Amino acid sequence: MERSILVVEDEQDIAHLLEVNLQDLCSRIVLAADGLQGLAHAQSQQFDLIILDLKLPGMEGLELCRHLRGQANYTPILMLTARSSELDRVLGLEMGADDYLTKPFSIRELVARVKAIFRRMEVLGNKTTVERCRQIQVGDVALDTERRQVTLRGSLVELTAKEFDLLEHFARHPGRVYTRSQLLDSVWGYGHDGYEHTVNSHINRLRSKIEVDPAEPAYILTVWGVGYKFADTPAKTVNTGT
Ligand code: CA
Repeated sequence: MERSILVVEDEQDIAHLLEVNLQDLCSRIVLAADGLQGLAHAQSQQFDLIILDLKLPGMEGLELCRHLRGQANYTPILMLTARSSELDRVLGLEMGADDYLTKPFSIRELVARVKAIFRRMEVLGNKTTVERCRQIQVGDVALDTERRQVTLRGSLVELTAKEFDLLEHFARHPGRVYTRSQLLDSVWGYGHDGYEHTVNSHINRLRSKIEVDPAEPAYILTVWGVGYKFADTPAKTVNTGT
């Protein structure tokens, strides 16, 4: 498949390294050495992925990311951050980045992340198809989004309205990491500080209903220091004989 990647990175060595190593994965790579140039490319052309450095001249990576998301540009963004602080990672995800890597990173790891993002896009197809999709099946869990019914290995699971909304949100975006406040925004429609425990308690209840072992979840995974994600491909569930 024809893929195109926009790399916004001011360090020439890194930009060159990315260009060389991503050639096999895509047919077109566009390099931008500052934030404003990167924004201009992202607004004028369609890309399948944007690799975005956080510290940039012209316009910072976070600002660029916020800008694009504000214009309903949902091209996947892989953020590169030189700082390993939890705050930066959380901020990046809050601004709408899909994944992040902390510098210095291994080029093999980066290539693996890019492949994972492309795989996810293939599974999801384009967003509108996904939104229309009524049935979502992930591992043993099946959602009927019109009837708002969930079955686990064929048996109906009783969920509250919010538990269903949360599960649907996760299942529509497998592999994507969400912070608690992003989940509040998307599922509850507000992001009040201090309400993160609402997310935690709903996740605990969902896990008790759909996970074989809620202490070792196969579907709703904890991303330490950041939040949660829904498994791309759930870990093989143990046959409990039930
Ligand atoms: Ca930089």
